[in-house]
This record gives sequence, C-alpha cells and structure tokens, in this order.
Amino acid sequence: MSLVNINEIHKYFDDLHVLKGVTLEVQEGEVVTIIGRSGSGKSTLLRTINGLEGIDGGTIHVDGHELVSSTKSLRELRLKVGMVFQQFNLFPHLKAGQNVMLALKVVKGIDEAEAREMALKAMEKVGLLEKFDVYPDQLSGGQQQRVAIARALAMSPKVLLCDEITSALDPELVNEVLTVVRQLADEGITLIIVTHEMRFARDVSDKVIFMHHGRVHESGDPKDLFNNPQTPELSAFIQSIA
Ligand code: ADP
Ligand code: MG
Repeated sequence: MSLVNINEIHKYFDDLHVLKGVTLEVQEGEVVTIIGRSGSGKSTLLRTINGLEGIDGGTIHVDGHELVSSTKSLRELRLKVGMVFQQFNLFPHLKAGQNVMLALKVVKGIDEAEAREMALKAMEKVGLLEKFDVYPDQLSGGQQQRVAIARALAMSPKVLLCDEITSALDPELVNEVLTVVRQLADEGITLIIVTHEMRFARDVSDKVIFMHHGRVHESGDPKDLFNNPQTPELSAFIQSIA
C-alpha cells in the first residue's frame, strides 16, 4: 500500500463543500506538488492528512493506518506526518535550537542531551548550525522558515507537508528555502507540497496535482502537465501565473 492513501474524501465547512471526492496516492519517497487557485481546497486537503481537519466522507490511510479522529490515533498520526506552514510559527521566547528541541522533549519524551543532538543535526541539515542559540527575531524570514523545517524534520516524520512555505517571504529569500526542500527531495523524504513556485514544482515533483473547485482536476507527470494541459482550467491557471 502507498504511504499516503486518500480515497474519495469529502469536506464541508457548514454548507460549503470544499473537498468533493478527492483521491490521491503518495508512495514512499515521492514528491507530490499541489497547485491551483486560491480557495480550491489545497490547504484543507493538506490539513486533513495530519488530522488538523476532520473529513465528512471517504478514507485516509497513512503508513497503513486509517485516520480516525480519536485523540490517541491523532497523536500517533502527528508523529508520522510533519507540517510546515506559510507563517513559521516559531516560539519567539525560545532560541532557534530550543524551538527544534521542544517537541522532541514534550511529545516524544526524549531527554535534553539527546534532543539537543537531534536538533543540532536537523539545524545542520538546513544550514543553520551557527544559529542554534539565536532567537527567532534575530533571524531573517528565510532562516526562520528553515528553522521551522528543521523542527519538523527532527521528529523524523514519514511524510512532510509544506503549505506555501515561501509565500510569506521576500522574493530574495525564497530560494534558500526552496534549496533546502530540494535537498530533502533528493534525500528521498516523502513530500507533499502546496506551492505557487511553478518552476520548482516542475523540477522537483514526481507528480503534480491541479486542484480546481475542490476536485483533482488534472494530475500527472510535471512536464506533461505543464507543457500539455488537458483542460482549459489548467491552461488558464498556468497562464495566470506565468
Ligand atoms: P486554498 O488553500 O486552495 O486557497 P483552502 O483549502 O484554504 O483553499 O480553502 C478552500 C475553501 O474553504 C475556501 O472557500 C475557504 O474560504 C474555505 N475555508 C477554509 N477553511 C475554512 C474554515 N476553517 N471555515 C470555513 N471555511 C473555510
Ligand atoms: Mg492555502
């Protein structure tokens, strides 16, 4: 079975039908990017995968386990599914390294010394070892986002979800974050990425999903999808962001 298996899921916010039977499979080591207009349901889809949003129909399996909304199973799920957001959400009163260590200690119960070792490794991976003892407000947006990535990675998730993680950054800071994600992709980490960076999506993904009005409108190999869109909606979307 695939690592993430989403089968015909539906999601409503009151009367608003936001996910209308979405099916998606992600294999271990795969990089899947989700593109589409604002409001098409991309964030909601990602948030269902780590249980931040419940679903109103269909099934989600992660690593062979069905996602059900009990506290215990959500806890287990969140150990497997990491997420990085547009806003970095670092704790301002904790140094960068302490931000990375926090969940290791609190959620995984790892002792201080070992958590520190793991956090050092994660900070090294994102190229920020020298910022371990620096507070977030002393870091650029790109660096803060790399700390947020380190924090997620330190937990050794089975899959990492990234929701527009470069959208809040000044343009000159986008590349340092994309470079880190590219490196994770090269290392074989399973990634599901919502992005507006189309060149990045084309270069890095194994598969691209185009969401439109709560449905997977088109999906496939990135080069085929971008060079040869099959629907007017995808054509229009590609033109609108080119
Ligand atoms: P995208 O990430 O593609 O921009 P979202 O998944 O954020 O789209 O939103 C899809 C639709 O669901 C939008 O119409 C949005 O306004 C609505 N929506 C998202 N979150 C909520 C919420 N918590 N409550 C009510 N409506 C929501
Ligand atoms: Mg969104």
